[in-house]
Amino acid sequence: MNPTETVDISVVIPVYNEEENLPVLIPKLAEVLGRLGTPYEMVFVDDGSSDGSRKILREMALKHTSLRVIGLRENRGLSTALIAGMREARGEKIVTLDSDLQNDPEDIPKLLGYLDCYDMATGWRQKRGDPWLKRISSKIANAVRNRLCGEEFKDSACTLRAFKRECIKDLLVFNGMHRFFSTLTKMKGYRIIEVPVFHHPRKYGKSKYNIRNRVLRSFIDLLGVRWMKHRSIRYNIEERI
Ligand code: UDP
Ligand code: MG
Repeated sequence: MNPTETVDISVVIPVYNEEENLPVLIPKLAEVLGRLGTPYEMVFVDDGSSDGSRKILREMALKHTSLRVIGLRENRGLSTALIAGMREARGEKIVTLDSDLQNDPEDIPKLLGYLDCYDMATGWRQKRGDPWLKRISSKIANAVRNRLCGEEFKDSACTLRAFKRECIKDLLVFNGMHRFFSTLTKMKGYRIIEVPVFHHPRKYGKSKYNIRNRVLRSFIDLLGVRWMKHRSIRYNIEERI
């Protein structure tokens, strides 16, 4: 893609060891985005994969002119991959989704449609395609997050979202923020809506997140976000003379 070409929509996709999923995802994504009839780019962030993902992305970039690859030197986790991609994004509207085919590209046009009235449309995985342990632990985590942050999100950690680029302007970034993106966006006063989306079981490759590597870390993050929410500076100027 010509670096000076303007794009309307940037789709940011984090990738860590997804070599079997990419050849299915990329044509599907290109097909859905092509239907929108507006200039777009797909920004794949390879988060230091150790399998053939980078090679596949390089090959796919030759075929698809709208595909860009940001290759990180080391594996840094989903939040970092998302942030790195969002910073590279050139569109006025940004979409994020997982690269493991659990999120469905077919939901993207629906989410984008909400940006006429909202600043962010975030996916609500009504019927999760995950194993029961993950479903239950995520449900509990979501409830605890809501309780401690005073929110009512049905699904605060779905990667599939569409938002205006202004939402990331002063976004607080930290490792683990992908679970709090909705909360942090709402805190800044942006209008946000949750929209039911498909969620499929993972067919290829392995999940990188489990109870062991999530619970303690995300709870500490939660305390930080809660503190930030209570202590953040908010005011409206009534007059200036
Ligand atoms: N991912 C990443 N870096 C990581 C771990 C995961 O970019 O260190 C990507 C991964 O390739 C996938 C998304 O983040 O596209 C979600 O990861 P995963 O499917 O393992 O999480 P789960 O859906 O099981 O919570
Ligand atoms: Mg997944």
